[in-house]
Amino acid sequence: MSRSATLFANAQQHIPGGVNSPVRAFAGVGGTPLFFKHAEGAYVTDEDDKRYVDYIGSWGPMILGHGHPEVLNAVRAQLEHGLSFGAPTALEVEMADLVSQLVPSMEMMRMVSSGTEATMSAIRLARGYTGRDSIIKFEGCYHGHSDSLLVKAGSGALTLGVPSSPGVPADFAKHTITLPYNDLDAVAKYLAEKGQDIACIIIEPVAGNMNCIPPVDGYLQGLRQLCDKHDVVLIFDEVMTGFRVALGGAQAHYGVKPDLSTFGKVIGGGMPVGCFGGKKEIMSHIAPLGPVYQAGTLSGNPLAMAAGLATLKLVQQADFHAQLSSYAKRLTQGLQERADAAGIAFTTTQVGGMFGLFFTDNKDIRNFKDAVACDVERFKKFFHLMLDGGVYLAPSAYEAGFVSAAMGKTELQITLEAAEQAFNALA
Ligand code: PMP
Repeated sequence: MSRSATLFANAQQHIPGGVNSPVRAFAGVGGTPLFFKHAEGAYVTDEDDKRYVDYIGSWGPMILGHGHPEVLNAVRAQLEHGLSFGAPTALEVEMADLVSQLVPSMEMMRMVSSGTEATMSAIRLARGYTGRDSIIKFEGCYHGHSDSLLVKAGSGALTLGVPSSPGVPADFAKHTITLPYNDLDAVAKYLAEKGQDIACIIIEPVAGNMNCIPPVDGYLQGLRQLCDKHDVVLIFDEVMTGFRVALGGAQAHYGVKPDLSTFGKVIGGGMPVGCFGGKKEIMSHIAPLGPVYQAGTLSGNPLAMAAGLATLKLVQQADFHAQLSSYAKRLTQGLQERADAAGIAFTTTQVGGMFGLFFTDNKDIRNFKDAVACDVERFKKFFHLMLDGGVYLAPSAYEAGFVSAAMGKTELQITLEAAEQAFNALA
């Protein structure tokens, strides 16, 4: 029995499903999840000493690759001064200044400890600001697991087939309106009828939790116009896309300015961090400036700020995002060529350092329906064949993949060789 299998058996005694977050359990692909003990650069090493090229990157934070020395040194240096003060620090001021410089719509912001907290707080703020109760989200988008947002959600909620979770009161869920992604008419129609009830629209500007689905041309711009028309707060959930698809996030990439944005993952450099912010006029409603309550014992934690700041400094290097994008392009093109050669119906998507792999001959994947129409059984086999070949993809057909700056020619070659064998085995 492998060490991962032994650990997994033991883990299940005191941890539900043996994991601290559901998708880690390999529920979407079957088999025993790998337990990791080390990560460096583009690779993770499991408890049985097998090394994999890592396209998950801790689900997004490790955009520099694992264990970047400058990030580790920043954390080590901060360590000497204290783990947490529960009081303001110079690091938080530096972080807020830097984020507002990199993402100009972020006039004011609050640091929190997870993406879930960031989106939950942004929604409360939008409700408090507008005095309206209902929100619009899109089918297959995941914004963390707060009650209002766990309705027709993507990611693990979708992988496990529980798009709406028991435990979310119907009285809460009824305030969450779910519309199809990439369908501007559906939003226009809904707002024309009930716009005065809607506090905000929250969207993943590139959907990454129903596989990777980019917005169609004009979609985000159209949402901006509709929100202006109906006085609805537009929230971009950039927890995945932030500092990844471009230095200024998806809002810079597509040239659309949201009212509020949420961040996570990259902004914490691998430490537990989230952030929400935006227009000063709206953010001024947050306590203690205003009446909308939001707080956190570990918010703005100094170690987390040190890791995040070091990461945000490094992603500003010239050509950083162009190189991520170039690797992701070569990866998706290489995979497509090999799938075509093996006669496997296959489609890819890619925006910057984010990518999606779909087992289908549909070349125009736009929404949740398209994502779930793909051949999931084929994905499961592909996932395990890639694992055998030393490549760690997300263990679900409904997650975006991430590339890191630590990836180069060698990793591309390992990946494409594994894929060629995998596609041939599937044919
Ligand atoms: N929003 C998006 C777009 C996400 O992808 C995620 C997590 N994958 C979240 C919010 C929630 O973040 P966290 O897991 O840190 O709570």
